[in-house]
Amino acid sequence: MSYVAMFVSRREPPVSGTSVPSVPPVPSYGPYREDCPWCGSRRLRGRPRGAGPRQGAPHRSLVERCSDCRHVFRNPPLTPGPEHPVVRAGVRIGHVLAARAMARRCPEPESWLDVGTGDADFPRAARAYFPYTSFDGLDPTGRVLRARAVERVEEALVGRLTDHHVAVRVRERYDVVSLFQYLERVPDPRAELRAALGALRPGGHLLVDVADPRRLAPVHPVGLGAELVAQGCTVLTGTRGHRVIARKDASTP
Ligand SMILES: [Zn+2]
Repeated sequence: MSYVAMFVSRREPPVSGTSVPSVPPVPSYGPYREDCPWCGSRRLRGRPRGAGPRQGAPHRSLVERCSDCRHVFRNPPLTPGPEHPVVRAGVRIGHVLAARAMARRCPEPESWLDVGTGDADFPRAARAYFPYTSFDGLDPTGRVLRARAVERVEEALVGRLTDHHVAVRVRERYDVVSLFQYLERVPDPRAELRAALGALRPGGHLLVDVADPRRLAPVHPVGLGAELVAQGCTVLTGTRGHRVIARKDASTP
């Protein structure tokens, strides 16, 4: 997948010649994968007996477990799409609960990056709890540019955290980085997680929310807590809940 390298900010004049890219239709499922997104092992369990590699578009997303690292994930991953109003209401409630949870641990962050922000629904909801925080949004689609145009975010970044042009721009810049239903959908969640920590200032807070708004059983990265600790973080919540908050230790290189 290719992205348009683009940043749009209220803080800077727009680059002449840039335009909002068209937003492609989003499929219901991401591509089926043969290996574990967390460790790369191909020893996966959970597929129906006798099922082999999917041909063409799959019709179901199944929960699979890696036999090596025990990571559990939906395969193919669910992707954002037009949602039922009940699901959207569930998403809004999840956003409010997450904002409250972060407010208890980090009440006055100056800067916040919402990763995979889409239309920036979370920054819009969180503003009630963080009126003085500057929210930026990152998304692989041009939806974030629309969100910037209606001032839901201060700065719009198009791409992924692991894209070089994004990583350079966000390095150690934010007090909070949030990832809602994001790690479940990216090809390399560990690399994205490390890149998210790279965007945090020392002492900054990471919010990972894996609650599935479609009320499906949440699929939790088994190695998330261990990976956060290995990367120099203190996990402030349980690692098996729907929402994980961690602090990047000041001594993290
Ligand atoms: Zn694995």
